[in-house]
Amino acid sequence: MNCTQCTSSAISERGLCEEHFLAWFEQSVNETIDAYSMIKPNERVLVAASGGKDSLTILDILSKRFPCTVLCIDEGLAGYREHSIADLEKFCTERTITLIIKTFKEEKGFTMDEKDPEHPCTTCGIGRRDIMAEVAKGYDVIATGHNLDDEAQAIMMNIMKHHAMKPQPVLEGNERFSRRVKPLYFMAEADIKRYAYLKDLVSSFTECKNAHRSHRRAIQHFLENREREVPGTKEALVKKYIAWVEQRTLSPPL
Ligand code: SF4
Repeated sequence: MNCTQCTSSAISERGLCEEHFLAWFEQSVNETIDAYSMIKPNERVLVAASGGKDSLTILDILSKRFPCTVLCIDEGLAGYREHSIADLEKFCTERTITLIIKTFKEEKGFTMDEKDPEHPCTTCGIGRRDIMAEVAKGYDVIATGHNLDDEAQAIMMNIMKHHAMKPQPVLEGNERFSRRVKPLYFMAEADIKRYAYLKDLVSSFTECKNAHRSHRRAIQHFLENREREVPGTKEALVKKYIAWVEQRTLSPPL
């Protein structure tokens, strides 16, 4: 199948060749940034990055438009974070971006492996939020790599009352956090993987050993099954949710 924009071979289900896929992807992310006025000129931007495909993709696009500082939090999970930190260090060195690495060990007094809690993702999430809130005090905006799949899961989790996160593209600042923005909000994980692979941003796709224990993983499987049966389910869920939020001045009843 040829690209819908030129005579090259298409490499994605969207019917685009490599060049047009990369251009479409970057333009889509920039349109989200602008449509939601996520980052204003001269604002100090902190990018919360794990070094995985999502954070390196967002950094790749954001750092072309805005001066960014990167924060990476090492939870102390053997066999997981060291690979992504290596990719992140390489990326930041090549583009002369300041990288701040904070560890659970130094900031909280334990590693996740040492603590091995019954609900690892809860402990891990609280620890990361604490550290991020502290570092973010010196910045106007925090950008995170949450994507369409993450947000569809978060909406479902909120509906089931298992999660406190507000799944919206922009979360206004409060006494604890600066404004938080999600430039990949409307981008599907499959497209992000393809972008990161084509741009050679990550050396491997590793997963935390605790991921299978999380409530989020069960929701992810449910949504993946629905997506297989009804393609477009995740996108419809997120877009309908956003339309609902934007039509009302009140917060959604979640
Ligand atoms: Fe932390 Fe859970 Fe994510 Fe692992 S899967 S990094 S424990 S939140």
